[in-house]
Amino acid sequence: MSAIPGEAQATRPGLVACRHCDTLHAAVAVEPGGMAVCSRCGYILLRQSRFSLSFWSGLTAAALVIFIIANGFPIAHVSMLGKTVHASFVGALWLSWENGHHILAVMTGLVGFWLPLTQLCFLFWALGCLRKGDLPPDFRVAMRIYHAVGPWSMVPVLMLGIIVAIVKFAGLASLQPGPGIWAFGILTFMLTALSRLDSERLWRYAEEAGLAPLSRDNGLSPEAMVACPVCGYVQERKAVAETGCCGRCGSRVHKRRPNMEARVWAFVVAAAVVYIPANVLPMMEIRSLMGSSTHTILGGVVELWRLGSWDLALIVFAASVVVPITKLVALVTLMLARRWKGERQQRQRTRLYELVEFIGQWSMLDVFVVILMAALANFPGMSQVIAGPAAASFGMVVVLTMLAAMSYDPRKGWDQESAPGGSD
Ligand SMILES: [Zn+2]
Ligand SMILES: [Zn+2]
Repeated sequence: MSAIPGEAQATRPGLVACRHCDTLHAAVAVEPGGMAVCSRCGYILLRQSRFSLSFWSGLTAAALVIFIIANGFPIAHVSMLGKTVHASFVGALWLSWENGHHILAVMTGLVGFWLPLTQLCFLFWALGCLRKGDLPPDFRVAMRIYHAVGPWSMVPVLMLGIIVAIVKFAGLASLQPGPGIWAFGILTFMLTALSRLDSERLWRYAEEAGLAPLSRDNGLSPEAMVACPVCGYVQERKAVAETGCCGRCGSRVHKRRPNMEARVWAFVVAAAVVYIPANVLPMMEIRSLMGSSTHTILGGVVELWRLGSWDLALIVFAASVVVPITKLVALVTLMLARRWKGERQQRQRTRLYELVEFIGQWSMLDVFVVILMAALANFPGMSQVIAGPAAASFGMVVVLTMLAAMSYDPRKGWDQESAPGGSD
């Protein structure tokens, strides 16, 4: 076991397990602004915030207010032949539901509205509990939900989608930005800052305040210990064996994710299959007085390029074509290259896995663009954008590749390198 490098001040008893290689580290205090990195695989175990709980609580409250403004006000006002449409994201969701695109409306509604809202509400409540110094029993359940919701909250992707949709549309009609778009811009920054407060970080605040038990180093071998994926509590495997649940937060705990191979392959194959209709079928249909035309994903990129927005064309191409293919290829590489040996190779595989996690949600961009375009161009009989069958397929590709990445266990690769007691 190795100590966490970082700007250590005073040692405090306890253990931290690396999520990516399962190495156990003795926990040390990290200076505000400093971070602790796994000495074996390089994963960032902890970034110590400079800000207090009151600051985070205030920021979360402000984010909730901005969230209401972003969704309650139009993102743009579009005028065409004397008619004006006030397009908002909630209106766009409602419109795609009314047009019979139920899967699309539910999917984008969840990742763009309901899950970010859930995340903010749970965070605000949890920070309130921590500030009061009182953890009610519901805190355990709330943190499990908060942990599950996190990866599916896609406001920054939605923000980029709004920009792309508006640029695409600005050439076709007179368009005025509404208050919603500014609010979405501010919300994106706020949520990016708040994403540091994951469930493990919140449980660590509880530990520091003496509200939750610490992971103790009781001298057992790393093999005999298991770490909770939600709260980071390191506990004896024997103690978990009976219930299968974490002794601190009650979430399911496994030494390694079960049935990893079958799950990852199933999701990868399903995503690769759904990726075909997502590319071949039309993403959207544009109806105007001149007639109607359909566009595939690549067609949309070419159109953006023709409009002179080569930068946005590149972004959409990267998000819709490069990212999904990279994710699939990276996951297949990670699965096939399991027999590669050596610390360096394992580190590279860990970086590759981090890349897959990082780019996970960005391919949702074009799906948001489609439903926003439909809301902006809602002039029946004059000019209309209708979502095509590829939009829902493409959303499914994003969901399936994210599920594949979540089923993959990066610790498995490191297992081969571990001789007994074999951390460096
Ligand atoms: Zn590690
Ligand atoms: Zn736990």
